Amino acid sequence: MAQTNSRDRDLRERAARVIPGGMYGHQSVGLLPDDYPQFFERGDGAHIWDVDGRRYLDFMCAYGPNLFGYGQPEIDAAYVRQLGLGDTMTGPTALMVELAEALTGMVTHADWAIFCKNGTDATTMALTTARAHTRRKTVVRAKGAYHGAAPWCVPRPSGTIDSDRAHQILCDYNDVASLEAAVAQAGDDLAAIFAAPFKHDAFIDQADPDPAYARRARELCDRTGALLVVDDVRAGFRLVRDCSWSRLGVQPDLSTWGKCLANGHPLSVMLGSDVARKAAASIYVTGSFWYQAATMAAALETLRLIRETDYLERITALGERLRAGLDERSKAAGFGFRQTGPGVMPLFLFDDDPDLRKGFCFSSEMLSRGVYVHPWHNMFLCAAMTEADIDGALDAAEGAFGVLKRQVRDLAPVEKLAFLSAGAR
Ligand code: PMP
Repeated sequence: MAQTNSRDRDLRERAARVIPGGMYGHQSVGLLPDDYPQFFERGDGAHIWDVDGRRYLDFMCAYGPNLFGYGQPEIDAAYVRQLGLGDTMTGPTALMVELAEALTGMVTHADWAIFCKNGTDATTMALTTARAHTRRKTVVRAKGAYHGAAPWCVPRPSGTIDSDRAHQILCDYNDVASLEAAVAQAGDDLAAIFAAPFKHDAFIDQADPDPAYARRARELCDRTGALLVVDDVRAGFRLVRDCSWSRLGVQPDLSTWGKCLANGHPLSVMLGSDVARKAAASIYVTGSFWYQAATMAAALETLRLIRETDYLERITALGERLRAGLDERSKAAGFGFRQTGPGVMPLFLFDDDPDLRKGFCFSSEMLSRGVYVHPWHNMFLCAAMTEADIDGALDAAEGAFGVLKRQVRDLAPVEKLAFLSAGAR
């Protein structure tokens, strides 16, 4: 591979000089196998091309934003049309009201919307809204759950101070007793319970939400007057055309969304019910780009496709096809291969693989066969994928499992993930 990724290597060298650490955040490939490209040139439908011209079926979907395919023509046409009329202006367009109407029409618990740009904007606003509503400070949230990169929730504490994370109590997701204990510890100071729609932490198996946990979270909020926040930034509209916990019959007071709302154009939102309207109106939140009209035009078109097409049924069926096919092929190759979480947002981990050396080998072999998978983060399916794409991925997997079987005894330790074997999981 060394001689074929020369543009990527060149860009990495240049980046190391002008970008701290060479790359930052979730799109840094620092914790991926060495052959993973860092830089891409284009995306189309379900595929991406790296800067060295290699094409991949993309099971990361930009870490979620790609729901209908890169460059989806109707969505991008709406975007470009509005760009011609005006985008970042001195005030919003009528699209903002239409979009709030569309979302409150689709999401059962929602009576209002505040738009922003990144998921972190929305989750941070939810925290502020809950504190304004209750005039209390403490937030209960699950250990290991990601809610963004602001000082109150960022997983790597460098540069943050203890008071950034003050007034938070962590519980174990799906563990009712631990949730109850955390709420008891908060005493009369509970402002909010935050919950991911399902357990989608990195490096470990994903888990469906236990309905008893979701119901208890709702009851505890009702009893204490705290607000229940479902953070649907990652899973929104991939599981249901409503807030994800509506599948459990549990409605939050606030929900946070981002990622695929405008199919890759930057938009996020906090949705809320009437109970929190006054508090939401009282907080000062804004941003220079939060009112951009072109993104809202793209979002309206994305929401229309969500309502009017069978995208959800199709990606669900594709997820099932992928899961069944991988199950069959991994068993045939003799591997304990765990596929967890919803089929449309799968995570793959091998049994007996503490430093992910099997996962790294498998992922690299998939990559060399033109399929971009992730060895420790959940992946995403998009509606531009076809059955033929999934079958191609299954062929690639058969080859990858075969190579892994031959090499498994000789795999080198993955030094960069040694922290996992040291018990960080
Ligand atoms: N919440 C969840 C559940 C997320 O997955 C993410 C992003 N991965 C965020 C919040 C933060 O979103 P953003 O990166 O857009 O700020």
